[in-house]
Amino acid sequence: MQVIQSTKLANVCYEIRGPVLEEAMRLEAAGHRILKLNTGNPAAFGFDCPPEILEDMLRNVGDAHGYGDAKGLLAARRAVMQHYQTQGIQLSVEDVYLGNGVSELIQMAMQALLDDGDEVLVPAPDYPLWTASVALSGGTAVHYRCDEQSDWMPDLADIERKITDRTKALVIINPNNPTGAVYSEEMLRSLTEIARRHNLVVCSDEIYDKILYDDAVHVPTAAIAPDLLTLTFNGLSKAYRVAGYRSGWLAVCGPKSHAESYIEGLTILANMRLCANMPAQHAVATALGGRQSIKDLVLPGGRLREQRDTAHELLTQIPGVSCVKPKGALYAFARLDPKVFKIKDDRQMVLDLLRAEKIMIVHGSGFNWPEPDHFRIVTLPAVDELTDAIERIGRFLDGYSQH
Ligand code: PLP
Repeated sequence: MQVIQSTKLANVCYEIRGPVLEEAMRLEAAGHRILKLNTGNPAAFGFDCPPEILEDMLRNVGDAHGYGDAKGLLAARRAVMQHYQTQGIQLSVEDVYLGNGVSELIQMAMQALLDDGDEVLVPAPDYPLWTASVALSGGTAVHYRCDEQSDWMPDLADIERKITDRTKALVIINPNNPTGAVYSEEMLRSLTEIARRHNLVVCSDEIYDKILYDDAVHVPTAAIAPDLLTLTFNGLSKAYRVAGYRSGWLAVCGPKSHAESYIEGLTILANMRLCANMPAQHAVATALGGRQSIKDLVLPGGRLREQRDTAHELLTQIPGVSCVKPKGALYAFARLDPKVFKIKDDRQMVLDLLRAEKIMIVHGSGFNWPEPDHFRIVTLPAVDELTDAIERIGRFLDGYSQH
C-alpha cells in the first residue's frame, strides 16, 4: 500500500524552507558555497547571544533535565506577565503559555480555535507560518491586502470586505515580516475596531517588537484594546538572537469570561506536548528584565541599522527594483517592476538566482503575495557580505526574463 500524506496537508506550505532550500542543499553537497538569505537566524550571521542569557541557561541546565509545568516555569511566566503589566496590560500568570518558539504556540492557538471551514484574516504578504497553521487546523486563511503604496499598511476596506459569518480571528504581524512595516497606534485602533465590531479574536505577532529603526515606535495591540480577547505572541529568537533555544510565549489578554472553553482547549494542547524546552525557559526572566542589548544594534551606528540602510540603498539602485524602507524587523521586501522583468513564476526566478549566483532568497509568493513580482532578503549579513550579495543579485537581474 502506498503511504501518502494526510489530506490535512493539502494547503500547508512553508516556502522559506521549501524546494529552493532543497536545491541549495544539493548544491552545497556538490561543493558550492551558498549564501543563505532565506531565514531570519541572527546566529548564522555572527550575532552572539547576550552573555547573561547564556549564563542563566548554563547555570540552570543541571536542574532543567526533567519535565516542567506544561504552561511553563512560574518565574518565566511571571516575568512575561510583569513585562506586559508595565505596559498597562492586565493579565495574570495563568494567562501566559511558554512554547518551543512562537511557531509552536501559533499552531496550538489555531488548532484550539478553528473548526473546518472557519476563516482567519491573515495579511498578504504574511509570515507564512500563519497561513500554514490556519490550513493545518482545518481553517481557511483569507488574505487581506497590505498596501505597498502606503508603506505596506493594512487595507482596512479590504479587511471589511472579506469578513463573513465564518471569520473567527484577525492576524496582525507588527513589526511585519516580510515588509518591515511598523503600525501606528491609529492603525492598530482601526484594526481592533474592526475586530470589535465583528467579534473577532485578535492574534498579534510581535516577535520583532524591539527591532525598530528611525523613529518607529511599537505599540502592543493588547494595550489599546483591553476589551478584546488578544493573543500576543513573542519570544527570544529575534531580539535576543537565540532562535535555536526555541523559546517563545503567548499571552492571552483581555476578557476571558466568554473564552473559557477556548482557553481550556489551549491548556489541553499545552499539556499534550508536556512542556516547552526547559533550559531556555530559565533565560526568559533575565532577557525581559535586564538591559536590552538589541538597542545597540538598531540605533544609529548599530550593525542592524547599518545593514538595513545598506540593503535598502543598494536594492533600490538596481534598475527596475524598488523597496519600501523597512522600519522594523530583519528583512527587505523588494519589488520587481513588471514592465522591466517578465516573471511568470517567482519561485523559478529564485531558483535561477540560486544556480547562477549561489545566493538563496525567498520569492514573494512564498509569503502569500499574489503576484510574482517581489522577493525578500534578510538584512542580517555584515555590510560587506550584504553589498556583495546585492551586487550579485543586480547582476543576475540585469536582462532577466522568463519566456
Ligand atoms: N513570527 C514571525 C513574524 C516570524 O518572523 C518568525 C520567525 O521568523 C516566527 C514567528 C517564529 O519564531 P520562533 O523562532 O519563536 O518560532
